[in-house]
Amino acid sequence: MPTVCWGYARRWLVGYHGAMTEQNFESDQPVCAEGWLSGAQRLESPNQDSRPVGAVIDLVVIHAISLPPGEFGGDGVTQLFTNGLDPDAHPYYAAIADLKVSAHFFIRRDGSLIQCVPVTARAWHAGLSRWQDRERCNDFSVGIELEGDDHTPFENVQYLTLQKLLADLQVSLPIKAVTSHSHIAPGRKTDPGPCFDWAPVKSVCPGVQVAP
Ligand SMILES: [Zn+2]
Repeated sequence: MPTVCWGYARRWLVGYHGAMTEQNFESDQPVCAEGWLSGAQRLESPNQDSRPVGAVIDLVVIHAISLPPGEFGGDGVTQLFTNGLDPDAHPYYAAIADLKVSAHFFIRRDGSLIQCVPVTARAWHAGLSRWQDRERCNDFSVGIELEGDDHTPFENVQYLTLQKLLADLQVSLPIKAVTSHSHIAPGRKTDPGPCFDWAPVKSVCPGVQVAP
C-alpha cells in the first residue's frame, strides 16, 4: 500500500447534498484510511490501480464531462466509469465505450456526490499530463468530474458540493494546488471550460495554489 500523508485538523458538521451527516459527526477524518469519503455515494470503478510507492497526493484536478455530450442527468458518465456503457445506446458511445477511464469523484447537476475510486488509489482521469515539472498527474492527484460542458453554466449546488469536497480533502491530504484538466493537458483538453467559476474554489482553498 502506498504511503499516504494524513492531516489532522477540523471536521465538517454538515453533510453532502442529500447525504446523511451522522458519519461526519462520528469520524475525525472525512476520508477513511481506505480512501473513501464519508457522506459520498460509493460506486466503485474497476479503472484504478496503485499509486507509486511514496506518492504524495498534493494536487486536485477539476474536470467536466457529460454523456451524451451536452446532455445532463443520465447514467452515461457512471456507466463509462464502470465499463458499462452500451455502444448502441447513442451514436457517440461506440467510439468511447471501450475507454478505461475513471475519476475519484463525480458531482452531478443536482449536487449529489459519487465516489468511484478511493483517493488512496490511482484513478485514470488525467491521461498524458504535466503539472509544473511533474508528469503523469494521475500518480499524485485527485480527479473531480463535474457534470457539465464548455457551454453551460454549472449549477450552484455543484459548487457547494465541490467546496465541501475540497475542504474535506484538505483535511485528509496535503493538497498544495487545484488546477484544471486543460491546464495539465493543454491543447488536448478544454475542461472544465470557460463556464466554470474558479471563485468558489479559491474561497475554500486559502494557502493553496489555484491555477485554472
Ligand atoms: Zn477532463
